[in-house]
Amino acid sequence: MSLHFQLECSVPCGAGPFDANDIHHLCRCGRPLLARYDWDYIGRHWSKTALTGGMRSMWRYAPALPIAEGVGPVTLGEGWTPLFHADCLGADLGLKRLFVKDEALNPTNSFKARGMSAAVTRARDLGATTLSAPSAGNAACALAAYTAAAGLTSKVFMPRDVKAPFIRECQLHGAEVTLVDGLITDAGRIAAEQGAPLGWYDVSTLKEPFRAEGKKTMGYEIAEQFGWSWPEWIIYPTGGGTGIVGIWKACDELEQLGWITGPRPRLVSVQAAGCAPLVRAFDTGEDTAVPWEDATTVADGLRVPAAVGDMLVLRALRESGGGALSVTDAEMVDGMRALGRREGIGAAPEGGATVAALRHLRDAGTIGDDDGVVLLNTGGALKYLDVLDPPA
Ligand SMILES: *Cc1c(COP(=O)(O)O)cnc(C)c1O
Repeated sequence: MSLHFQLECSVPCGAGPFDANDIHHLCRCGRPLLARYDWDYIGRHWSKTALTGGMRSMWRYAPALPIAEGVGPVTLGEGWTPLFHADCLGADLGLKRLFVKDEALNPTNSFKARGMSAAVTRARDLGATTLSAPSAGNAACALAAYTAAAGLTSKVFMPRDVKAPFIRECQLHGAEVTLVDGLITDAGRIAAEQGAPLGWYDVSTLKEPFRAEGKKTMGYEIAEQFGWSWPEWIIYPTGGGTGIVGIWKACDELEQLGWITGPRPRLVSVQAAGCAPLVRAFDTGEDTAVPWEDATTVADGLRVPAAVGDMLVLRALRESGGGALSVTDAEMVDGMRALGRREGIGAAPEGGATVAALRHLRDAGTIGDDDGVVLLNTGGALKYLDVLDPPA
């Protein structure tokens, strides 16, 4: 089966390219590998008009995804999520063109479904049988569901204090759950120690090249939903950074395909005040981020003290002319309430964080009245309802 992509170092360090018919995780230099496609070939066989009547999932973009022609993906209907015009919240903030892309409507309630649909599809096609990942919560739930759908086995490793709904949802889908003292970085170390001798296929964030491929479809969808143009701003709650890396990759690929010519969006990363390694690195002009000590936040997806793709996120933020800022947990919960009451959208604290960031950028005059803004609500409220408890 011919593949129209190969794997290249994201730095690039000079090693490679690597054959996508073989299993690869990180590059020899220790940095992420990314899939690079033969756009000349793909452009000759694919067009925007082919999307009319296409699949109502992220697999509508299958020619740009890591799957051989004629092979079916492991899918639960992920992606092609709605882009809501947030007119009430927009009016509160003096914006006519405020939109929310609601990733809570994905299988297992978060955008992690996109990455896992792509990664599990590719791992299955490469012959993997047991897949493992460390997770702050949502990635584990998505991995559990997609391996179940594929008839494969999953082992997930989460911090011991993860909220109960995440653990139960993983078990519901048959995953073996290990709770680890510490944070996602500790979970990653233990998962690798256990899995390496047994040949488990590691799907840690950006330690394999295909979760980013699933996540880039958020960019493809935003472009298509805007009639093949970009909004001025995309605000994204950033933990491991695959979302930002994926959306920036989509900007590049859609230009290579010739489907979009206008200015790219400015990308803004939002992190938690209690764990903001990328914001700190952005502010001090560093190319990589120093690990954050004592990370704490109610937004599990943002409790990522160190990210192997830090360099790629920082590069994307700078190249896009965007930025990075942190918000407090209280501001995130206010943001959840604003999305809930003003738009009927059930947001995770990570989604609430984008509203908090938008308020800051409006107050500072950075985002203008006429700018188009997309907030990514990366997950749903239901697994985090305890953060809405009234004070005891
Ligand atoms: C994982 C997660 C994030 C962070 O996403 P990255 O793309 O890894 O930066 C944000 N929000 C939610 C709800 C998550 O589960």
